[in-house]
Amino acid sequence: MNGSSPQRSFPQGSGQRARGDAPLGGWRGAINRATEDPQLGLISFFAALIALIVLPFSIYRFAQGQVGVGIIDALIVIAVSAVGFVAWRPGQAARAGLLMAIVTTGSCLVVSLLFARHGLLWSYAVLTTNFLMTSRRMAMIANVTVLAILGRHPEVFANHVERVVFLSSGVLVSLCAFIFSLQSTRQRQALEHMAIHDPLTQAMNRRAFDIDLATTLQTHQLSRSPCTLAIIDLDHFKSVNDTFGHEVGDELLVEMVRTLRIHQREQDRLYRFGGEEFILLVPDTGAHGAQHALEGLRETIFQTLRRPDGQPVSVSIGAATLEPGERGAFWLTRADAALYRAKNGGRNRVMMANQFDPPVDQAIDRRGAVHD
Ligand code: GH3
Ligand code: MG
Ligand code: MG
Repeated sequence: MNGSSPQRSFPQGSGQRARGDAPLGGWRGAINRATEDPQLGLISFFAALIALIVLPFSIYRFAQGQVGVGIIDALIVIAVSAVGFVAWRPGQAARAGLLMAIVTTGSCLVVSLLFARHGLLWSYAVLTTNFLMTSRRMAMIANVTVLAILGRHPEVFANHVERVVFLSSGVLVSLCAFIFSLQSTRQRQALEHMAIHDPLTQAMNRRAFDIDLATTLQTHQLSRSPCTLAIIDLDHFKSVNDTFGHEVGDELLVEMVRTLRIHQREQDRLYRFGGEEFILLVPDTGAHGAQHALEGLRETIFQTLRRPDGQPVSVSIGAATLEPGERGAFWLTRADAALYRAKNGGRNRVMMANQFDPPVDQAIDRRGAVHD
C-alpha cells in the first residue's frame, strides 16, 4: 500500500500553478508576457530596433533638406512601431509577425528601388528576419517577391554581374534562413515534447498535469460540465521488479500505457504521476459514466497485460468527480483516498470517491493553506 495512503500530501501547486493565474501588471507583467511568448518578444525587440536604427536616418535626412527620404524613413518607423503595438493585443502576435514581414519587405523594396545600392544592402537583413517574423511559407513568398522584383529592375544595379551576384547571394541567404528556421522549429518542438512527457512511457508528465489541472478547474468553473480524475496504480508492481528485474518492470509500464492509450477515449488525458501511478483526466464525464469507463479499462488491463510468468497484471483505480468550487489538491486527495480503499478492498478494482471523502475538515488539516 506504499504508494497510496490517505495521509499522502499533494503539493500546493497542484491545480494552482496556472500560467495565467494572476497576471502581473506594469513592466514586470510585460516582461513576463514577452518571455512566455517568444514571438511577441521577438517582434517587440525587432520593432524597437528598427525604429531606433531608422529614426536617426530620418532626422538626418530632414536636417539635410532631403524631405522626401526623411518622410519615407519616418513612415517606416511609424509602421514598425504600429506593428509592435498590434503584437501586444491578445492573440495578435502571429498576425503582427506577418504584418512586420510585409512592412519590412515593402520598405526594403521601396528603399531599394528609390535609392538603388544604398537601399539594396538592407534587403539581406529583411531576407533573413522574415523567417523570424512569420511562417516559413510566408517568409519564402516575401523573399521570392523581393528577389523577383529587384531582379527585374536592372537600373538598381551597377552592372549585370552585380545583379547576378545579388540574386545568387539573396537565394543563398534565403535558403540558409529557411534551413535555420526549420531546424530551430524542430528543436523547439522536441524540447516542448520533452518538457511535458515522461521519457519512459511517453505519457504526459506531472508538469503537464499541473498545467492541465489548472485549466480543467477554470473550465469547470465556467461550464460546470462534469469531470472525473482517476488515479491508476499497478498492483504489486514492486514484486515484478524484485522477481524479474527493473527492465521488465519498465516494459510493463510502457505496455500498460500503450494499453490505456488504445482503450481510453480521445479526449481523456493520461499522465504519469510518479512511479507506477498514472492519472487519467476524464472530461465531460460524471461519476456514473466514469465508473463504467474505468471498469472497462481495469478489465482490459487484467485481460491483456501479463508478467513474464504468465500471471495477469492488475491495477487499482481510485476516482473522484469534481465538485463545484473544489480545489485541485482536494480533488486529488479524494481520488487518492478512493484508491486507498481500492487497495484495501483487495486490489484489481475501481472505487469512486464520495462527495466528502475524506472529510473536508481532515483534508483541510492535512493540506493547510491549499484550501484556505
Ligand atoms: P501496491 O499494490 O500497494 O501498489 O504495491 P506496489 O508494489 O505496486 O507499490 P509499491 O509502492 O510498494 O512499489 C512501487 C514500486 O514501483 C517500487 C519502485 O521501485 C517501482 N518503480 C517506481 N518507478 C519505477 C520505474 O520507473 N521503473 C520500474 N521498473 N519500477 C519503478
Ligand atoms: Mg503506488
Ligand atoms: Mg502499486
